[in-house]
Amino acid sequence: MDFSPDKYTNEQEEFAKEVNQWLDENIPEGMEFPRDPLNVTQEQFQKRRELAKRAARKGYLYPNYPVKYGGGGYTRAQATVIRRETAMRNIQLMGFHSAGSTMGIPAILACGTDEQKERLLPLILKDGALTWELFTEAEAGSDEANQQTNALRSERDGEYFIVNGGKIFVGGIYPPPDNFLLLTRSDTKAPRHENLSMFLAPADMEGVSIVPLDLFVPGPFGTTSGRSTAGADGIKYQVFFDDVSIHEKYLIGKEGDGWRVANAALEVEHGGIGAAETGAGEGRGAQFWGSEQSYLVRRFIDQCKNNPVIAKRIKANPFLLESVMNVYIEAEKERLFGLRNAGGMGGRAGGTHAQLFSKKFSILLTNEIAKVLGPYGLTSDEELGMEDTMFEVAQRGALCLAPLGTPEVLKIVISRALAIGR
Ligand SMILES: Cc1cc2nc3c(=O)[nH]c(=O)nc-3n(C[C@H](O)[C@H](O)[C@H](O)COP(=O)(O)OP(=O)(O)OC[C@H]3O[C@@H](n4cnc5c(N)ncnc54)[C@H](O)[C@@H]3O)c2cc1C
Repeated sequence: MDFSPDKYTNEQEEFAKEVNQWLDENIPEGMEFPRDPLNVTQEQFQKRRELAKRAARKGYLYPNYPVKYGGGGYTRAQATVIRRETAMRNIQLMGFHSAGSTMGIPAILACGTDEQKERLLPLILKDGALTWELFTEAEAGSDEANQQTNALRSERDGEYFIVNGGKIFVGGIYPPPDNFLLLTRSDTKAPRHENLSMFLAPADMEGVSIVPLDLFVPGPFGTTSGRSTAGADGIKYQVFFDDVSIHEKYLIGKEGDGWRVANAALEVEHGGIGAAETGAGEGRGAQFWGSEQSYLVRRFIDQCKNNPVIAKRIKANPFLLESVMNVYIEAEKERLFGLRNAGGMGGRAGGTHAQLFSKKFSILLTNEIAKVLGPYGLTSDEELGMEDTMFEVAQRGALCLAPLGTPEVLKIVISRALAIGR
């Protein structure tokens, strides 16, 4: 590793100045950072999109990927600076782009043909296209291979696939996106795992309908407890396909390659090696930057020390001190997992391991914080509780264990890395 996980090198300090100057010049005027993703207006969303597109052109949106395909071509040390400096301003560049982009890039790199890489990658890397991940269906969540949405070769025009079916729990905040990363069943007779195809297709196709889901959660805990909540989904959707024609040029890999492509994408979703390169998980603040990792925890500990109302509760009830210490100790463990992985010592499933730990931690964390804050957990008045509904939003996110793989699925992924189990 060519940088320290705890502080910048001299070269990074210099690069941070460059990044900050660019941010000063490019953050759209009037950009706001509401804590609750549901309070991001359409106008504010468009400002975020504009910033992300500018960052893509500059190479800051996907700093690690090759310049050849439109990526930034920056080193990991520089990419860390870009992510940290943007996070310190409450901005989470990657989050604006939804999961389909961050998961689609490595999938195209790993499984796409040369022609597909040259045509599809710049759409995301250089143009900053927003892509929704369209994998989950009513009968295909953890059992991702059980896809029922058919994309079958058109009998009339064999260059096209005709898509029928529906996806659930997908997308984020304001539709439509630019693209769908769409997993489908393209052969109704072939054996399981050999019957799927993946597309990176435009979202504005005829026959697509997008319907909002009224969910309680603003997004997974990692995106709701960091310095910024800009990467949180906010709203999820159902997407229905009714005789939608997709040209074969939008395939990733070949027809029937879908399971291989999905696995390359899921490697990122499950916190694998690719996640580090794409900055997935930066929701906690700045990746690799231990002291920033658990922003919610830091703000909570500050309140326990400095807020007379909370300090008085802890003094009056010594059991609450135990809750504070539980939060502190588990947060330290989480920080150390991050440092271990940043140092390249996580092993094959290090990312998934850290992701699983954070999911379990989120439940403990929010329960313990709720005990300590008591009724003050419900207020957004910082003099009494935590700033700007921070706890309430994170608590809703903590309930949300399903996205990025359920804890049980992550355990299966880890067991496979250890060559145990199926
Ligand atoms: C806020 C939110 C955002 C999401 N974003 C997206 C998105 O952008 N794109 C997308 O495609 N999907 C998205 N999802 C869907 C998410 O990926 C699925 O919810 C998840 O994969 C689980 O699938 P499921 O809900 O069908 O649960 P199921 O697969 O039905 O699982 C139900 C329970 O059974 C357990 N289980 C299942 N199989 C096993 C097994 N073999 N061994 C042990 N336990 C098992 C699970 O762990 C879980 O506890 C999102 C979901 C939410 C809630």
